[in-house]
Amino acid sequence: MAKVELKYVMNDSKKIVVCGGGGFIGGHLVADLRRQGHADIRAVDYRPLGEWYQKFDDVENLVLDLQGKEACEEAVAGSGSVYNLAADMGGMGFIETNRALCMLSVLINTHLLMASRKAGVQRFFYASSACVYAAGKQLNPDVTALKEEDAYPAMPEDGYGWEKLFSERMCRHFTEDFGLTTRVARYHNVYGPEGTYDGGREKAPAAICRKVIEAKLSGKHEIEIWGDGHQTRSFQYIDDCVIGTQKIMQSENVTMPVNLGSSEMVTINQLVDMVEEIAGVKLKRNYNLKAPKGVNGRNSDNTLIQKLLGWQPSISLKSGLEKTYRWIYGEMKAKA
Ligand code: NAD
Repeated sequence: MAKVELKYVMNDSKKIVVCGGGGFIGGHLVADLRRQGHADIRAVDYRPLGEWYQKFDDVENLVLDLQGKEACEEAVAGSGSVYNLAADMGGMGFIETNRALCMLSVLINTHLLMASRKAGVQRFFYASSACVYAAGKQLNPDVTALKEEDAYPAMPEDGYGWEKLFSERMCRHFTEDFGLTTRVARYHNVYGPEGTYDGGREKAPAAICRKVIEAKLSGKHEIEIWGDGHQTRSFQYIDDCVIGTQKIMQSENVTMPVNLGSSEMVTINQLVDMVEEIAGVKLKRNYNLKAPKGVNGRNSDNTLIQKLLGWQPSISLKSGLEKTYRWIYGEMKAKA
């Protein structure tokens, strides 16, 4: 991964805390902060250490349930900057059927903000989502890319999206009323190695890689696709997400939520074409029209991030998928 060019090293001597550090994006962020040379990092997650996607012995690893206020105080103690990437979440199959669990993540961000204010944390990052965008703006597959102002008037994804939008506003008001510097990124679909690819929380790119690999290994050349395959999305490779997250955290001018996503839009059918090509197979497609499929179309308008940071995600879907496919293939072969 390319090193992030830091304008200055923030809180050089202070601890950096990554909440959700046992998860997919959190694990990659911790790995990259180490690569940047940060020596004082604390990763926090409620999953047992053996279940973290990435774990480093030179990092302080804490197992805490961050829905609790005291746990959040312990998590942020002595730190200068806090990244909140902890949330109960998954792909459409999870968030459409676990709305209450998704909304309970509001406790994590609220208690982390309160604890950060109390501890005198200098900067706080919140991982929001494209699921905050109003449903009415995402009805057609040939969707106009979503701009930041499209989140209002509010009609986000039920459950998960409402929690994200509420927590965004909580960050804003902690800045306005209490002077805590907060940064918010609206992540659009993130994919890559060292993440979930089975078990019900996986997202489309990992799920499709897994299904193609299963078909290839079993010789049963069929694949189930959720929806009619015409729904459109953009997918952001993890390295772009990790770089963008740090750039936003470090910035002086990203004072409102900003999109962090790829603008390379494809249909789900095109995503399957790409994975088939990487795998060297052609599969019979069975469309499950009853399965959760989310909105019909979604893409990231990157005008604002380009304007504020002079940067936007640029890793192509093809090259990111190749790396992701190879990693999932290795994992599945090792388990077989
Ligand atoms: P992930 O599920 O891999 O990571 C989230 C981590 O949070 C998990 O390891 C989980 O154990 C931890 N967690 C959940 N509840 C907790 C609690 N009460 N206490 C402590 N830890 C807890 O998901 P991810 O893909 O790495 O997502 C990170 C953040 O980015 C989340 O806020 C998510 O909503 C947001 N996001 C992700 C995507 C994406 O495509 N992956 C898109 C939009 C937004």
